[in-house]
Amino acid sequence: MSVDMNSQASDSNEEDFGVNSEEEQEEDDGGEEEDPGDIADYYDGVASDVEQQGADSSDPEEYQFTCLTYKESQRVLTEEVNTVAAALKVSPSVAKLILVHFHWQVSQILDRCKSSSSQLLSDALAQPSSACRLATAAQSLQCGVCLQVVRRDSLLALPCQHSFCKACWEQHCTVLVKDGMGVGISCMAQDCSLRMPEDFVLPLLPGEELKDKYIRYLFRDYVESHFQLQLCPGADCPIVIKVQEPRPRRVQCSRCSEVFWYDAEIQCVD
Ligand SMILES: [Zn+2]
Ligand SMILES: [Zn+2]
Ligand SMILES: [Zn+2]
Repeated sequence: MSVDMNSQASDSNEEDFGVNSEEEQEEDDGGEEEDPGDIADYYDGVASDVEQQGADSSDPEEYQFTCLTYKESQRVLTEEVNTVAAALKVSPSVAKLILVHFHWQVSQILDRCKSSSSQLLSDALAQPSSACRLATAAQSLQCGVCLQVVRRDSLLALPCQHSFCKACWEQHCTVLVKDGMGVGISCMAQDCSLRMPEDFVLPLLPGEELKDKYIRYLFRDYVESHFQLQLCPGADCPIVIKVQEPRPRRVQCSRCSEVFWYDAEIQCVD
């Protein structure tokens, strides 16, 4: 395990982007509640006590987190997406919907998938539930929103088979992305909450600027829904904090030095 104290970061203009900082501490007083002054002492303590890098990583009290760059956090997410996509034989974009719903608890997802993968997909709003009656596939050639009669091949539908014309889907996605929505964009049919996978939404967005926005919102939603990740709240800071165990703790960003609480609110799904 490598430990980089990053203590030089503040006296240098160089941004230490590729480097993870991983801090460890054995808490011998069992005290979780430090007062705000303690954090500075804590870092001084670690920086001057290099022996601590050998701290027992199985110690449940260990103060352990990592500061990830945008790229590094993307890599963490992509790995989990690929695991779930392969296990469930779904596309990466559908795997993301499942992961978001289950807070990226991969082992829990894999367990549930053993009992029923169709239930898993409908719980995650990625597939219609079996109890739900599917719309008949493009039986009429009329768009349910604008009521225009269109060619069959210009009607698009999610797996729920609610068909609408491309122009209406485009409008729907454009408005919602402009509103700051990412993962939460769902089907246009009334009472249908099926989520739109990102590979369905992206081609419908006009212009690179809006696509970039959407990708940023998705990333935000992925990180916020992940039980081990949190965005650094520092101004314009792209760092993502990764913790081993999701419990409340004070963390410090290695890039902007913001000190904040890791919010362990997201825990189990059920
Ligand atoms: Zn339409
Ligand atoms: Zn629908
Ligand atoms: Zn930061």
